Amino acid sequence: MRIDIITVLPRLLESPFNDSILKRAQDKGLVTVKVHDLREYAHNKHRSTDDYAFGGGAGMVMTIEPIHLCIQKLKEERTYDEVIYMSPDGEMLTQSISNQISLQQNLILLCGHYKGVDERVREHLITREISIGDYVLSGGELAAAVLADSVIRLLPGVLSDETSALTDSFQDGLVAPPVYTRPAEYNGWKVPDVLLSGHSGKIEEWKHDQALERTRKRRPGLLKL
Ligand code: SAH
Repeated sequence: MRIDIITVLPRLLESPFNDSILKRAQDKGLVTVKVHDLREYAHNKHRSTDDYAFGGGAGMVMTIEPIHLCIQKLKEERTYDEVIYMSPDGEMLTQSISNQISLQQNLILLCGHYKGVDERVREHLITREISIGDYVLSGGELAAAVLADSVIRLLPGVLSDETSALTDSFQDGLVAPPVYTRPAEYNGWKVPDVLLSGHSGKIEEWKHDQALERTRKRRPGLLKL
């Protein structure tokens, strides 16, 4: 998979992709993440990528030309499955969207800033809009990193134990059961006996019951789907 991220603040995207699982995924060649500085596509005197809004109002708007030139250049090099704009009013990101996107080959993620992008970008250059929740961030970079992380960890070979992603919350319509590790007793607080029983059938049953109970309490909406 290849992910191209377009931003005016490339530095904001350095650390999320340079540690742990996301870094290893790139080192193993399972994903290529390239960050593009939009300013390099701004051919005006000050390399500016935003301007005042027509009709007035507070906040700058990102101009269409640098975004268009950057997307065009990328599209000359390969075909993209989606050109995604990170946007608070987009489709709300869910595990099933991440699952679906993880099957794609080439993605562009466009990060907005200020008041967002000129609407014509959304009308003509974007194929999909994704939000990470009903709140407003100052830029799309953190949202793009969230989307990329949730997708990359699903790629075959990225997690050391392939089944791990499958037992995470939402994959089977339930949230994950509680987990424990050594010591079996700490400060008088004990691990449930069943987990120490070595009886795999009973353990699986317990995990399923716990997941169901947690889902009922925390995400009852999942059970109604
Ligand atoms: N004026 C816009 C918000 C702009 S916030 C509005 O009211 O809808 C600036 C940028 O941050 C956006 O262009 C988008 O790329 C990003 N962003 C903010 N909140 C986001 C969210 N919840 N999910 C995804 N991207 C978000």
